[in-house]
Amino acid sequence: PNQLLDAIGTTIFTVMSALAVQHGAINLGQGFPDTDGPADIIDAAANALRDGRNQYPPLAGVPELRQAVAAANDRFYGIKADPGTDIIVTSGATEAITACLMALLDPGDEVVLIEPLYDTYLPVVKLLGAVPRLVRLNPPDWVLPRADLEAAFGPRTKLLLLNSPMNPTGKVFSADELGFIAGLLARHDAYAVCDEVYEHLIFDGAKHIPLMSLPRMRERCARIGSAGKTFSLTGWKVGYITAPRHLAAIIARAHQNLTFTTPPNLQRAVAVGLAKDDAYFEGLAADLAAKRDCLSAGLSAIGFQVLPTAGSYFVTADFSPLDFAGDDTAFCRQITEHAGVAAIPVSAFYAGEAPRHYARFAFCKRDDVLDEAISRLSAHF
Ligand code: PMP
Ligand code: GLN
Repeated sequence: PNQLLDAIGTTIFTVMSALAVQHGAINLGQGFPDTDGPADIIDAAANALRDGRNQYPPLAGVPELRQAVAAANDRFYGIKADPGTDIIVTSGATEAITACLMALLDPGDEVVLIEPLYDTYLPVVKLLGAVPRLVRLNPPDWVLPRADLEAAFGPRTKLLLLNSPMNPTGKVFSADELGFIAGLLARHDAYAVCDEVYEHLIFDGAKHIPLMSLPRMRERCARIGSAGKTFSLTGWKVGYITAPRHLAAIIARAHQNLTFTTPPNLQRAVAVGLAKDDAYFEGLAADLAAKRDCLSAGLSAIGFQVLPTAGSYFVTADFSPLDFAGDDTAFCRQITEHAGVAAIPVSAFYAGEAPRHYARFAFCKRDDVLDEAISRLSAHF
């Protein structure tokens, strides 16, 4: 077997979800909503199935969805993209990330990654023979250490992989930080792969700023979105990439060798979703912000030190004020098995030395489920 794959364990999301099922725990670990997204989108998918949309769609995606992604880019961010050449539909953002990395990286190229980092990034970079250069954000404020980032760039840097809004920290990179990043990319003639799956899950009136929307960045960025997050349909695995034309052509080659296409009925339904009015997108963010507040208040009342979250499905909470002797992995096992609430240890998002007193809780759950989770944890501590 491939040595790298042989050496990595099963993803923490699967491990903790299985443990949650085994112990009948409420799953605030893996990030998925417990209510499905809009009925009209689901109906559109069902109708498309019955309408005979069941054979291979075009490699780059059905025209309706590529047009809808291009229109959404313009509507939300003023990014212009040609649906015929600049958009590739993939089977989830997971495939999109892999396809972009395959398209850009040769063995020996350096990739700048920001820790804590989503768990698929590093294995794919390494499988491609590229060299990771890790820059670390530290709790509790997760500020971008600019000197470290600058030092990570060098003559072999091919790209930066940037996740904003960020999993697991809930950090949203500021305009100022993005400007600094853009300067480095231009100076080092590097690309950015921008994982923006939480682009619409952003709170308190903040606005998501795609790196691609900054001056001179349109040609350097591949921007990735996910219908799973934007429409609370995580099992659908429909992702989309916006890239400059020359890059999109190579990403398409990667995609043709990974999955080739993505179910056409789902693609058509996601096109319906992206055309929804502003009230839908604002409502999604407002609902999630209220859930964030509810979970954060409940965890704080128990004694956790809860860090602020500006976007995503997650809050990070420091459990060191609680009476627990052990690291974050032990803590998350303990609460899953004995309090009946599952969470994810934040050290799982670090490649090396990691802080070991933070747990990540997902708040994309029904209000009664969040209340029950809080009352279980209160009873336990
Ligand atoms: N990137 C990040 C940061 C994520 O949290 C996730 C999680 N779901 C993904 C990518 C994968 O998205 P998808 O389900 O569309 O593959
Ligand atoms: N992105 C989700 C999370 O961070 C999990 C996706 C998965 O299970 N691979 O919880």
